[in-house]
Amino acid sequence: MRVLFTRPLPETVIAEARKDCEVEVRDDTAPMKTGQMRAALALYDGIVPTLGDAFDAAVFEGSENPRCKVLANFGVGVNHIDVAAARAAGVMVTNTPGAVTDATADIALMLILMSARRAGEGERLVRAGAWTGWHPTQMLGQHVSGKTVGIVGMGRIGQAVARRCHLGFGMPVLFYNRSPKAVEFEARQVETLTALAEEADVIVVAVPGGPETRHLIGAEVFAAMKPTAHFVNIARGDVVDEAALIAALQAGRIAGAGLDVYEQEPDVPAALRALENATLLPHLGTAALEVREAMGRMAVQNLRAALAGEAPPNPVA
Ligand code: NAP
Repeated sequence: MRVLFTRPLPETVIAEARKDCEVEVRDDTAPMKTGQMRAALALYDGIVPTLGDAFDAAVFEGSENPRCKVLANFGVGVNHIDVAAARAAGVMVTNTPGAVTDATADIALMLILMSARRAGEGERLVRAGAWTGWHPTQMLGQHVSGKTVGIVGMGRIGQAVARRCHLGFGMPVLFYNRSPKAVEFEARQVETLTALAEEADVIVVAVPGGPETRHLIGAEVFAAMKPTAHFVNIARGDVVDEAALIAALQAGRIAGAGLDVYEQEPDVPAALRALENATLLPHLGTAALEVREAMGRMAVQNLRAALAGEAPPNPVA
């Protein structure tokens, strides 16, 4: 079986795949282009794509039942793949849920703390040699312990964030979710995003990206938030109307934002980069070696099962 990894991955992952496949690793860290994806569908039995490889309907057009039988995505988010178009062409899609949950929740907590406690701004101050010394009213931020967190999307990552906030920082938890959800710790589901925004001191977005959630968070939500509240997005950039977020931050309508993802990655608007009250990370959610190895092992398990004609452990419905 001949498979393509669309990006370099940790060596242990490639070695695992090489046990029973002929593996080619694309030596480029940028996303695949349409022509490359079309060619890959014809040339390989399986592909391990990842974020940014836009397997949209146009890629599958005219390639019914290609040689490729599985897109074993490296990552849980599959909003870059048109899953229905893939299925219609006879290509199965799998992902790596669970392996990413704790690492991404950790990054959410880091952004909550960095935004509320003005860590980015403070770091820039020290590095600029502009720090004049401690005093009682220097750089006062927002105390996090005991404040109310509002989670948008109470799935695996949403719950892991909520658990950390609740058990670690004594924070009451509110959440907004597509369907009713019971969780194993105290948390209250609210009916609307506005209700969540009005009550929460910190909002964390953890819904999948894609057409269903595009601009789920916009001006209306920012207008409903407390002026002291912080906004964190570790999900996907297209869930948030970035222009509306920038306007809210510029106007001081909300206190701050911590972002790991952006609407047009890797382009981050200059207006956003200019804001002191925005903490900006380069999509670091799962960026730890052991996490990327675990994601890779999961992708290889899916690939192997699909190529052997068995049901893969993590099919995307
Ligand atoms: P998950 O377990 O599927 O959870 C998603 C949750 O969002 C579910 O509870 C779902 O509700 C809810 N939801 C979906 N659409 C909604 C809508 N329109 N309105 C309200 N709630 C909605 O997924 P996960 O593993 O937690 O991952 C979530 C996302 O995080 C991924 O899809 C990925 O894009 C992103 N992510 C980012 C990074 C990073 O590096 N920053 C890393 C990993 C993942 P139901 O209960 O109704 O299904």
